[in-house]
Amino acid sequence: MRRLVPALLVASFVACAQGNLEAQRERMVRQHIEQRGVRDRRVLEAMRKTPRHLFVPEGLRAMAYADQPLPIGHGQTISQPYIVAFMTELLELKPDQKALEIGTGSGYQAAVLSHLVGHLYTIEIVPELARSSAPLLKQLGYKNVTVRDGDGYKGWPEQAPFDRILLTAAPPEIPQALLEQLKPGGRLVAPVGASVFEQELVVIDKDKDGKLHRRPSLPVRFVPMVRGKE
Ligand code: SAH
Repeated sequence: MRRLVPALLVASFVACAQGNLEAQRERMVRQHIEQRGVRDRRVLEAMRKTPRHLFVPEGLRAMAYADQPLPIGHGQTISQPYIVAFMTELLELKPDQKALEIGTGSGYQAAVLSHLVGHLYTIEIVPELARSSAPLLKQLGYKNVTVRDGDGYKGWPEQAPFDRILLTAAPPEIPQALLEQLKPGGRLVAPVGASVFEQELVVIDKDKDGKLHRRPSLPVRFVPMVRGKE
């Protein structure tokens, strides 16, 4: 009995904290995502299912369900949940598609995408981040995600072409290799801009004849897409 009481207390504390996190996640989805205009039910469901608190550093877990980016080390950030949902909705993913993400970071956006796509390939230039997000995604059961460290400017030629491509770091212009690795009929979504003060999200559709159609979406602020060593 003496041992049982503390064990029960710990168990109920854990259950309570867990419940609390779920309630916070639900509130985040309703207030910051649904009410701000993201309507795709599959996207909302993916946001509800993805435990963002497990993708942020332990000391920041209490802030995981606020609608803000958070530092993940190496000068990088996990994106704001609203933007993650907004970009995911823009991609209009289907379960039989193959997608490429540039900038794995914490792995959170990859986890959200993996609920909606056949297979996701994701590239991260900071090897330490790729080395931590890959086992985390695996441990959480995201089987249809392949992470590798490397330079996103080159894309992933061995797996190309892709139905969808998402950049989560901002280049000054969309890298040519990524446009080439997009399938006809495919869509690429990217923050683009020479500095953090003049970035906008752009949507590029490649039509059946391979012609590109570009339209601007929101003004955004992403970390820059850095160039790898040649
Ligand atoms: N999608 C991430 C967001 C991370 S921030 C998440 O959900 O957490 C953007 C990431 O892009 C950073 O981790 C950064 O290291 C990475 N990055 C920057 N330039 C890159 C490049 N050329 N190739 C691949 N990744 C890059």
